Amino acid sequence: MKTILLFTFTIALTVGLCGQVQVKPFPKPGYESRISNYISDMKVVDTHEHLEDQADWIKPGKLDFMLLLQHYAYDDIRSAGMPKQTFNKLLTDSLTVMEKWTILRPYWEATSNTAYCRAALLTANKLFGVKDLNEKTVEDLSAKIKKAYQTDWYNQVLVKKCLIDHVLVDEDNSMLGDPLMFKHVKRFGEFIFAVSAQKIETIAKAQNTPIHTLDDFVKALGVAFHNALDHNNVAIKIGVAYERDLFFDDVTKEKADEVFRKIMALPEGSVLKYNGSEIKPLQDYMVHRILDLARATNTPVQFHTGLQAGDGNFIENSNPAHLTNLFLKYRDVKFILFHGGYPFGGELASLAKGFKNVYIDMCWLYIISPSYSERYLHEWLETVPASKIMAFGGDFRNVENIYGHLLFAKQVVTKVLTEKVRDGYFTEEEAIKIAQMILHDNAIRILNLDKN
Ligand SMILES: [Zn+2]
Repeated sequence: MKTILLFTFTIALTVGLCGQVQVKPFPKPGYESRISNYISDMKVVDTHEHLEDQADWIKPGKLDFMLLLQHYAYDDIRSAGMPKQTFNKLLTDSLTVMEKWTILRPYWEATSNTAYCRAALLTANKLFGVKDLNEKTVEDLSAKIKKAYQTDWYNQVLVKKCLIDHVLVDEDNSMLGDPLMFKHVKRFGEFIFAVSAQKIETIAKAQNTPIHTLDDFVKALGVAFHNALDHNNVAIKIGVAYERDLFFDDVTKEKADEVFRKIMALPEGSVLKYNGSEIKPLQDYMVHRILDLARATNTPVQFHTGLQAGDGNFIENSNPAHLTNLFLKYRDVKFILFHGGYPFGGELASLAKGFKNVYIDMCWLYIISPSYSERYLHEWLETVPASKIMAFGGDFRNVENIYGHLLFAKQVVTKVLTEKVRDGYFTEEEAIKIAQMILHDNAIRILNLDKN
């Protein structure tokens, strides 16, 4: 009996270590550290941030340990029960660092298991040498953060530590500096969510051209689009999965015009519900017009798919499969599907495999779940051409969290590629080439960064 058990155990262990499929010879010893060193030292393109200027952070109440917890860790702290008003108070200077910690502590203990919070811990450790968040460390960490902002901190973190050579920043922030490094991505929310005559009038005033008809409105979109391209915007972002589903019907001009006229005739102060069925035909029509412009100018389009931050969202709205009619109609537009489609990773694989014009972007993903990222990167490297995967975007407003997120990303990419080499699926050379593609070269090519 003992022998049978031992035999079964040995077989199970061998199968477990060998992975699924061996195609290439097993690697030479030392491949783990060679792959890891290559990834650790390589330059990276960061495909998605909400980065604010360094100067914007140097304000009362902003530079303390809470800097590492805003944006995403906040979502889990709220999910663990902290009211929004309480959290917002922690981002002001109305409390001392220790008072903030005392309020945060029970929620932190409830939720510090999540990857959002783990990323904050890794950042505190790797950037500031602070090994934990507790009553003994928060004051020291806060002092170190404040001191860092007296230096050329953004440069030190983004360029010297992250080795990032291009960052795509969502919406324009021209304060950020070097236009070769900081590229921008434009949303046209004012055209998609034009729910009242006043909103349309605001666009007309900004362009100094009256808008009376749907044709005028589409023309104004064209002006805004070309203006964005002239101002260092290299892609379009469509983030409407927070407000509505991602199925954009190919509606007739007449149908869209009906809605447009209705909006223009609304009494002052009235609006159409911005995520309602009444406005949907006009929204659908305008998204198609954005895609016409993207096609005519070879501008890639980033779509939010999958998880929406915060509460009150409908996850089924964001399923990337809703976009299929667009992939079919706009064969020459590059559709970049964000956030690894979490939790629709299988759907995303099918779409990126089947459609030449669909790309996977893993921004935000590693801090949502390192396990999902690992599982699906394994799967996507088996299902989708590696040339169509972009494997890093921090999706943060401040550089510290970008660094922490990049450390997560590099660990996961290293682990997946090392396992694929260990199993004989890739050679070591192939794995290194793929790292170079998914963390750098693909983004340069797909986003036309060598031409802009
Ligand atoms: Zn984002």
